[in-house]
Amino acid sequence: MNQYIEEAEKVLMHTYNRYQIVLDHGEGVYLYDTSGKKYLDFAAGIAVFALGYSNKEYNDALKAQIDKLLHTSNYYYNVPTTLAAKKLVKASGMDRVFFTSSGTEAIEGAVKLARKYYYKKHGVSDSQIISMNHSFHGRSMGALSITGTKKYREAFEPLIGGVLFAEFNNLESVKELINETTSAIIMEPVQGEGGLYPATKEFMEGVRKLCDDNHILLIFDEIQCGMGRTGEMFAYQKFKVQPDILTSAKALGCGVPVGAFAATEKVAAAFEPGDHGTTYGGNPFVTAAVSKVFDLFESEKILEHVNEITPYLIEKLEVLVKKYDFIVERRGAGLMQGLEFNKPVKDIVPKVMESGLILIAAGTHVLRFVPPLVIQKEHVDEMIAILDQTLSGI
Ligand SMILES: *Cc1c(COP(=O)(O)O)cnc(C)c1O
Repeated sequence: MNQYIEEAEKVLMHTYNRYQIVLDHGEGVYLYDTSGKKYLDFAAGIAVFALGYSNKEYNDALKAQIDKLLHTSNYYYNVPTTLAAKKLVKASGMDRVFFTSSGTEAIEGAVKLARKYYYKKHGVSDSQIISMNHSFHGRSMGALSITGTKKYREAFEPLIGGVLFAEFNNLESVKELINETTSAIIMEPVQGEGGLYPATKEFMEGVRKLCDDNHILLIFDEIQCGMGRTGEMFAYQKFKVQPDILTSAKALGCGVPVGAFAATEKVAAAFEPGDHGTTYGGNPFVTAAVSKVFDLFESEKILEHVNEITPYLIEKLEVLVKKYDFIVERRGAGLMQGLEFNKPVKDIVPKVMESGLILIAAGTHVLRFVPPLVIQKEHVDEMIAILDQTLSGI
């Protein structure tokens, strides 16, 4: 493995401090490195592998599509893209979909659509967007501009203008920033990278009302918290608060690079041919995956399972909170949980990895638990046992 790592460090840009393992294959909720060592995976490729690894039906659907048609460009119609869009529309309550190749691109598209909607309505383009502190929306110049973590943005300024930041779960702070040029408010119903903060019911409902009263579009970034992770297909559905624009990615394709933004009919109508485009976005290969993902969510009763297993995971994490003084609290929603420590967690992650458990952090002080949605109680027990043993030794 060391040789692979050495070679990688010579040719890849140093934008990550990678963990010192070389992954080879996956099976169910386990990953294996090139030396054959087995890891229980509670990171799922950053909340991507909702269905676990090597799901046969999913793999077969992709293999069949590879032999048929991988790509067409968006100049023509193809069957998988329309099927996938129909399923996303049905699951989200949105009316129209634009497929992208990543979450970041979904955000770009959502922001462009909000600006175009404002431009069409007012005849001027100088509009503002309100985002939240500690939010994360991606790394492109546009997505960075609305990401509420200064350290990600600072070196790359000037970014796109007209972005203001409010306090998550503080309705007053949002209200204060609204003026006649506000085109959209964007937020994650559960903040992921920012540290696993779920929005309160009051905030979700309050922001929706502010948007309705002031003719502002509401954008929910469900790239991490969507696709069943919180026990609903999309986290906003628990609150019965619909957005005007939705972004999705990560578990939308369960391993293929795909994202999407979707909108209501009224908002989507702001886009005309030529306003937005992509070569790869939503090609038949990735949308065959999306389509199969939606089918498997139904046939494998993923939402029911998440709702059933979540209380068990929470209960077990709470035991650790009580046991260790250095754990401040547990928070999150569904199978998107975090443990906040009173010290940096960066040394814990490689330690549990040595014991066969893959975890990731969210920021500096939070351990993040975003396992495949198909985990069973025995996997929770196995994870807790490894983590507990590691924590007892620090
Ligand atoms: C991961 C993430 C993104 C960016 O998606 P990429 O696929 O990495 O481009 C945007 N928003 C949220 C909430 C995310 O978790």
